[in-house]
Amino acid sequence: MTVLCLVERDGAGPDAGPADASLRALTFARSVAGSAGVNLAAVLFGPVSAAAGHELTRYGVTAGYAVTGAERYAPLGWARALAGLIGQASAGAVVAAGTDRGHEVMAHLGAITGQPVAANCVSAACASAEAGPPGGWRLVRHRWAGSLLEDAVLEARPALLTVAVDAVAAEPAVPGQTLAMVGYQPELADGDLAVQAAESAERTAGVSLATARVVVGGGRGVGGPEGFTMLEELAGLLGGTVGVSRVVTSQGWRPHKQQVGQTGTRISPELYLACGISGAIQHMAGCQSAKHIVAVNTDPEAPIISRADYAVIADLNEVIPALVAALRQRAGSA
Ligand SMILES: Cc1cc2nc3c(=O)[nH]c(=O)nc-3n(C[C@H](O)[C@H](O)[C@H](O)COP(=O)(O)OP(=O)(O)OC[C@H]3O[C@@H](n4cnc5c(N)ncnc54)[C@H](O)[C@@H]3O)c2cc1C
Repeated sequence: MTVLCLVERDGAGPDAGPADASLRALTFARSVAGSAGVNLAAVLFGPVSAAAGHELTRYGVTAGYAVTGAERYAPLGWARALAGLIGQASAGAVVAAGTDRGHEVMAHLGAITGQPVAANCVSAACASAEAGPPGGWRLVRHRWAGSLLEDAVLEARPALLTVAVDAVAAEPAVPGQTLAMVGYQPELADGDLAVQAAESAERTAGVSLATARVVVGGGRGVGGPEGFTMLEELAGLLGGTVGVSRVVTSQGWRPHKQQVGQTGTRISPELYLACGISGAIQHMAGCQSAKHIVAVNTDPEAPIISRADYAVIADLNEVIPALVAALRQRAGSA
């Protein structure tokens, strides 16, 4: 038996390494495989270079599948490929990161296999040596945007699990693994590729909101669409990307794909710099996994101030240009 882990990648091409959320999913999947005493295999779409493969071995992966024929993101096509690999690898569990893509692919995989999907798991372990019914899997998972933890027993084979984005830190395994990487060409019908990502603005730029290490957030306090130019520049200088509150998307200042929160993207960056955002509970549900929150707000009573590690009580129209100027100067003198 094997545990399969879907690995999303940052960027395109053979050298594109695992996205940060997938490194966490690999760490989680390694512990699931360990609990059942079986191997961990990674599933990637498109060619995989030796360097990208090496990164997988650091996370305890001993086998890998490089899937051909569905290089572009195609939710049903990717699920079809995973369904084929479940048989080929005799998978007892399939794990994916709890990202938009991870959830979408696993929902399709659940429909194809007729198995339930346990979303947003915090931990999972095999409850019996057979790693399947009747012993099943013991799970703890997030409910209600992470405000509740649910203990559950999942009796399914394979177990289909997504990992809550903040559940596990990415931790390399002991060195010394070797990787057996093989190609896999799934049998795909035309309909499996009917929905495909033609282009992804965030991924073209190399940083996706869900996996970015730095997110510069902007809310109503930014004042209008033109105010986001300085936030974009700041995000670029910090190697990050821009995220926004729902007010900003409702006003049409920025697209919904940039929304952070309960009804947007969950983020878990090293740094979330929240500018002109009050910190409503629905917004915090999307950014509570950030390692460090720095808030820039004119109102010392704004809810986000009590949730932030650092707060700058000031007008963002003064703070952000000053920060941009300082970073530009540092970049110029480096
Ligand atoms: C079912 C449901 C789901 C929701 N889902 C989401 C979600 O996914 N994501 C989300 O974000 N919201 C969500 N919301 C909306 C949420 O409740 C808030 O209305 C929203 O987050 C507020 O956005 P904001 O912080 O930008 O605006 P506001 O609450 O208006 O806050 C603006 C902040 O900017 C500060 N400010 C103003 N001017 C400046 C300045 N010049 N410099 C510095 N600071 C300044 C103000 O002091 C204030 O704190 C949801 C609501 C519901 C009911």
